[in-house]
Amino acid sequence: MEDGPVTVQQQRGFHVLAKPTGALCNLDCTYCFFLSKQALYPESDFRMKDDLLETYIRQLLAAQPERVQLAWQGGEPTLMGLPFFERVVGLVEKYRTRGQYVEHSIQTNGTRLDEAWCAFFRQHDFLVGLSVDGPQELHDLYRVDKGAKGTHGQVMCAWERLQAHDVETNVLCTVHAGNVEHPLEIYEFFRDGMGARHIQFIPIVERASADMILLANIGWGTRAGKDRPLYVQSGDQVTDRSVKPEQLGRFYIDVFEEWVRRDVGQIYVQMFDVTLGAHVGHRSLCVFSPTCGNAVTLEHTGDLYSCDHYVEPAYLLGNIGTKDMAEMVASAAQRKFGADKRDTLPQYCRDCSVLFACNGGCPKDRFVMTSDGDPGLNYLCAGYKMFFEHVDRPMRLMTQLLKTDRSPAEIMQWYAVQDTAWRKQARKLGRNAACPCGSGRTTGECHAGRVA
Ligand code: SF4
Ligand code: SF4
Repeated sequence: MEDGPVTVQQQRGFHVLAKPTGALCNLDCTYCFFLSKQALYPESDFRMKDDLLETYIRQLLAAQPERVQLAWQGGEPTLMGLPFFERVVGLVEKYRTRGQYVEHSIQTNGTRLDEAWCAFFRQHDFLVGLSVDGPQELHDLYRVDKGAKGTHGQVMCAWERLQAHDVETNVLCTVHAGNVEHPLEIYEFFRDGMGARHIQFIPIVERASADMILLANIGWGTRAGKDRPLYVQSGDQVTDRSVKPEQLGRFYIDVFEEWVRRDVGQIYVQMFDVTLGAHVGHRSLCVFSPTCGNAVTLEHTGDLYSCDHYVEPAYLLGNIGTKDMAEMVASAAQRKFGADKRDTLPQYCRDCSVLFACNGGCPKDRFVMTSDGDPGLNYLCAGYKMFFEHVDRPMRLMTQLLKTDRSPAEIMQWYAVQDTAWRKQARKLGRNAACPCGSGRTTGECHAGRVA
């Protein structure tokens, strides 16, 4: 199946993730395969030039007449220094038309955020995504500097400063082999320890071919030495740091079971929001949408790639210095990239009861065989299925609440009643019996019937 041709006029609603320092970063997080992408630009100083910045902002604002999202990532974008971002807001004012609204966002490791940065973010209403992998012992496992030292202390200082300046924030937590067994510890640290209100979990899946896996296990940053491989989306093995599918499913479920009892309407966990969106018919995340292709990535040189996860030569759409960005997004190659997400789904997914919520996940993770021997199943399938099936009933209940103009937060009352009944039964059964709520956990471990 092929999408029909898309005109530039139709192709308005696209999103660009810009990397002003390319893959350059002041940290050396062990799982960060983006670090290896420096190899694509061996002669570069990894700094977006002023004339290119102006071209970018002019093209982006011209392509999106009403609401524009200007999103910066890396590498570490703050390495460009504050004057670069002051130029950004100046250029936005230069090219913004009357009535055009520009939303600024930046994803950062936080280690360079001082008072001046935080004041600037507040003044210009930046949404700041801060990377935190949980409490110190979990965060410092992989999020280390060039000397292999943990960065948790610096990140917490940044968090305090951002809060003091009342900056809008979002915590981004990667889920990997080292922290996946600690869902509640992590969630409670974000909610109670930090006071975070917006949380995003990203599973770490580092792919490698059989002949690359040993090098891949060492890492992708400068500490991996001169032999570090360039990360590309190929191979059917994963590094030791990658999360296992069932572990990921359990992680999401454990966080959900806590959230749905206490925090609906107060804490926004992207995975839960997106799943509720799928139930009510509203799509917001490319990973779980039927097609993609509207989220491109701009390198510091002006090279535009199909997606942040496909910054590799085969997915280069062109350079904004010589081609119009909107035309590249509307090109046949990019439309095919997005439509392939749906058109290459194996039959196993097409027959799946949670296809409406999952849509096969991101193509970058589709490298395992189905039980029928078809290629293209998502490596994380078992975890996704576990989670989407587990939350089906509460999601339906919240959907009903929304449809009748009530708050989904009312579901917490339903859980309170259920839990009282389950706990009564559980007490009779003792700590080690299967919980009557049907979770498959013992009454001592389960959220629903927890027996002290
Ligand atoms: S490849 Fe994956 S991350 Fe990229 S746009 Fe498609 S679904 Fe989104
Ligand atoms: S849960 Fe698995 S089978 Fe179902 S759509 Fe997702 S990846 Fe495909």
